Amino acid sequence: MDQTPIQKRRIVLTFPKETVNQPITYHLVKDYDLMINILRAKVSPEEEGKLVIELSGRARDIKKAITYLKDLGVSIQPLAQDIKWLEDRCTHCTACISICPSGALSVDRKEMFVSFDSEKCILCTLCIPACPFKAIEILL
Ligand code: SF4
Ligand code: SF4
Repeated sequence: MDQTPIQKRRIVLTFPKETVNQPITYHLVKDYDLMINILRAKVSPEEEGKLVIELSGRARDIKKAITYLKDLGVSIQPLAQDIKWLEDRCTHCTACISICPSGALSVDRKEMFVSFDSEKCILCTLCIPACPFKAIEILL
């Protein structure tokens, strides 16, 4: 049995409109033996589509799948590039903490200091209306 460790990667895919109707996620699962968790999708056949996904699989399969996507004209970027926590605007009011489902926004209760971990963010956008100081921006 193959003991290669399984890795996870969260990425944002931007599809040119001619690829929106192609069964790309099906190929990622079937041809590259990956598991796909769709975290967020904005796809319409008339315009380019965006998908935020978590890929799980062997490193070599993830690499091959990314080459496949790039060959199709899909652009790929790490999730962290699509969300910004504007630290200088944050007043550490903690209004976002109980709302964030993934723990990406967290507070050190002793110091009452809020911090943001983009690796944990699933781009659910719940924090956007919750933040009175517009300290979080999602570019998706
Ligand atoms: S979008 Fe905001 S609320 Fe949602 S997971 Fe990311 S930081 Fe948390
Ligand atoms: S709601 Fe906005 S200002 Fe308040 S802690 Fe969260 S990010 Fe900072």
